[in-house]
Amino acid sequence: MKRVLIIGAGITGLATAFRLRKLGGTELDVRVLEASEMPGGNIRTDRYEGCTIEKGPNGYLDNVEATRRLIEEIGLAPHVRQADPEAERRYLYRGGRLHLLPSSAPGFFRSPLLSLKGRTRVALEPFAKKAKPELDESVFDFASRRIGREAASILVDAMVSGVFAGDASRLSLASTFPKMAAMEAEHGGLVRAMIARMMKSRKKDADSSGGGPAGPGGKLSSFDEGLDLLPRTLARSLGKSLMTRRSVRRIRRAEQLYSVETEKGENLEADLVFLSIPAGRAAPLIEKISPECSRIMKSIPSAGLAVVALGFDLSEVRELPTGFGFLAPRCEGLRILGCLWDSEIFPGRAPEGIRLMRVMIGGAHDPEAVGLPDDELRRIVLAELKTSMGLKAQPSFVRIYRYPLGIAQYEIGHRDKLEKLRTGLEETPGLLVGGSSYDGISMNSCIEKSEDYADEILRYLGG
Ligand SMILES: Cc1cc2nc3c(=O)[nH]c(=O)nc-3n(C[C@H](O)[C@H](O)[C@H](O)COP(=O)(O)OP(=O)(O)OC[C@H]3O[C@@H](n4cnc5c(N)ncnc54)[C@H](O)[C@@H]3O)c2cc1C
Repeated sequence: MKRVLIIGAGITGLATAFRLRKLGGTELDVRVLEASEMPGGNIRTDRYEGCTIEKGPNGYLDNVEATRRLIEEIGLAPHVRQADPEAERRYLYRGGRLHLLPSSAPGFFRSPLLSLKGRTRVALEPFAKKAKPELDESVFDFASRRIGREAASILVDAMVSGVFAGDASRLSLASTFPKMAAMEAEHGGLVRAMIARMMKSRKKDADSSGGGPAGPGGKLSSFDEGLDLLPRTLARSLGKSLMTRRSVRRIRRAEQLYSVETEKGENLEADLVFLSIPAGRAAPLIEKISPECSRIMKSIPSAGLAVVALGFDLSEVRELPTGFGFLAPRCEGLRILGCLWDSEIFPGRAPEGIRLMRVMIGGAHDPEAVGLPDDELRRIVLAELKTSMGLKAQPSFVRIYRYPLGIAQYEIGHRDKLEKLRTGLEETPGLLVGGSSYDGISMNSCIEKSEDYADEILRYLGG
């Protein structure tokens, strides 16, 4: 029987193990070693004062086939909940107040979010020059080139802060938004690509009896009990194969086998080791086996951030705007990246009479924030919610969750690093790396890639 050891029970490790057990049958011994007490990695849900509070991710978009398949196979389809349609109202902080983000092109051109010059420049997008295909351009440079500097600094910067907690001038477009890079490469521009996509989907609708269950953008979704229902259920399906409180501290290679040592001093042998932990944590473990791969992995940075959840008595905040929440571009001077209005996005996350919000702070522009003491984070967050939303009430509770390794940053050169890493790993057959440090940071990307990782593992083991 072949033995596989997966290090890390985040969504990547759990989904890979689930698929391996399904496809490998009894011919495969799959074990997952997890450092902490609970599986799920970043995906954790806190239950406090009757609220269901997401410590990390808020949800996933329901337009990815691999995620739908996993949810179906694990039996969670009846527990899926889509975000409330009211939560489509999103805001942006600019000039000292929140602006409703327009949902249509005419609305955008009427909105005061950008100056008239800035809006006109956006309208010229179809005439922007195309980049050279080999160029690994930053998100900011791409956006400036296509829609102008003002829109890049306001709209794109806010989106990059909201999704990656990142710095748009350092992140690689091709690695963080590969679809956008492909839209330009294939259609010569974003507007042209959107028109082509609309025409294609109209044709598809006309040709078929209807589209899939989700639109092209997908709907934000979670589960009735909170997002951690997915990792908890996957973990349950693995039974004793999932070993928690097993932090791996060393990996050795002897002939065709790997020997994995945990901090408890246990030694486990395997034919294949799959490291589904953040690159920065995995790098020291393989320093002796592959110094070059270890060096590349160390060079993939991540941005730490803190999530501050706040509960308010609804009667004290009734006058405030409602919807999804808001983002704040860095040039507007706030330290918070934005605020999600959780109890409106997924009604039922807070008991009646309570409004639940979560603020993100930190990221690539502000790496110190994640280490600030609780009272300092609370002070900054309340002061900036007052400035941005006009929120003057005192919260009935505050919960703070820290992510020192936060979100991987696919900086310019990420593509080359991955290529070198994959080539380097060919020298150590049976050693694989995967997860959000490499191939996509969203839950969807992790789940989608876990199918590829499992297939690669089976191919290697001759299954
Ligand atoms: C605050 C925040 C908000 C986010 N919001 C969203 C969102 O709304 N939607 C979305 O799609 N994505 C979101 N993301 C991104 C998404 O959560 C992650 O990219 C994804 O969960 C990463 O999964 P992973 O399995 O690759 O890694 P991780 O979740 O990092 O899991 C790695 C696991 O490995 C374990 N581990 C580490 N070292 C060792 C060791 N030496 N030995 C054994 N085990 C070890 C860790 O304890 C952990 O459980 C968010 C991320 C953060 C931080």
